[in-house]
Amino acid sequence: MILILGGTGEARALAERVPAVSSLAGRVREPRLPVGEVRIGGFGGVSGLAQWLRDNDIHAVVDATHPFAAQITANAFEACQRVGVPFLVLRRPGFAPRDGWTWVGSVAEAAAALPGSRVFLTTGRQDLSAFAGCPQWFLARMVEPPEPPMPHRIEVLLSRGPFTVESELSLMRAHRIDVLVTKDSGGAMTSAKLDAAQELALPVVVVRRPPLPAGAEAVATVDEAVSWLGTAGA
Ligand code: NAP
Repeated sequence: MILILGGTGEARALAERVPAVSSLAGRVREPRLPVGEVRIGGFGGVSGLAQWLRDNDIHAVVDATHPFAAQITANAFEACQRVGVPFLVLRRPGFAPRDGWTWVGSVAEAAAALPGSRVFLTTGRQDLSAFAGCPQWFLARMVEPPEPPMPHRIEVLLSRGPFTVESELSLMRAHRIDVLVTKDSGGAMTSAKLDAAQELALPVVVVRRPPLPAGAEAVATVDEAVSWLGTAGA
């Protein structure tokens, strides 16, 4: 059996192409479920995952989690090495850089380098605390309601998208946004806000991706992951 570590559109697309069990972290109350078998919840760190791989006779693992889900990727890489199971990361390419973007190494760095006073924050619920001490006003968009700490001056917008350039333009205009903060998530679904920011000539702060574990094999497309699984004999 193949294990797909999920939580992304790519993971759902891969589950449509190969028989597999998909794993979700359980962060979202009503997740978009992949086809096929699904398990939900953490494994209990590296040793829990290694045991789970053995117990479930897993022959290959494709980590198709979000590019910023660094912990599960590190855990899965190590667990697969321990158990001797082939491991692949399926990670969509990042955004093509544009003029006027400020690249930072972390959300904390983004919080310290905001070139505006009305911020459209799209880094997600888990990273909100990094902006808690900021004096700016925030429009923060996320899927699930946030928990404190968070900025004092904030409007939370619960929404999962997909978004269009037109809807992003009217949202940014309506809230008089003067800076956009985003992770380098990549993917077409999340690029509408970048087009809208460019049209409005807004500064954009982009958080760089965390690195992959050294030595991890990675591909950028679902097609490549399907071929790799064929070669891995899974
Ligand atoms: P993370 O920080 O890398 O992982 C923290 C812990 O959550 C892991 O150690 C693991 O717990 C559990 N976990 C994470 N992904 C899992 C999965 N697919 N299946 C089972 N357990 C998982 O992860 P995260 O950034 O919180 O992301 C959680 C999920 O949301 C992922 O599936 C990711 O694809 C999705 N997501 C994340 C982002 C983001 O910006 N980070 C954005 C969109 C979607 P144990 O140690 O107990 O195994």
